[in-house]
Amino acid sequence: MIFQARAQVLADLQARALGTPDSVTVLEDACSERRWWLGQWPEGAPFIAGLVAQDVQDALADRFGRQAQEGLWPVCTRCDGSAVHALHIEPDLGGPDPTWVCEESGVAVAPLGGLSRGAAD
Ligand SMILES: [Zn+2]
Repeated sequence: MIFQARAQVLADLQARALGTPDSVTVLEDACSERRWWLGQWPEGAPFIAGLVAQDVQDALADRFGRQAQEGLWPVCTRCDGSAVHALHIEPDLGGPDPTWVCEESGVAVAPLGGLSRGAAD
């Protein structure tokens, strides 16, 4: 379960060429914490992938700052003409069916694990 979550998040980071050593390290940390969490609460399985993605986003923001999301985290390619803004995972609980949502417009962009490379989202 945790490996699938890791694979989904990593696939989306790599789809945007964001699979850097920093982000992979953060992802590994998030997965090991959530592996423990899942051991405590097996019913949390449907939420795990979205939670891992949210953990990684939070950890990157803590480490590099909210404004440093470009080049670290998937940004929205749907909205034309507005400032760069990030995608985030909804629902807030992490699942079920975690989905990338534009943080400005609230539009669903892709399922977690299904993010494409750019404008063709
Ligand atoms: Zn947007």
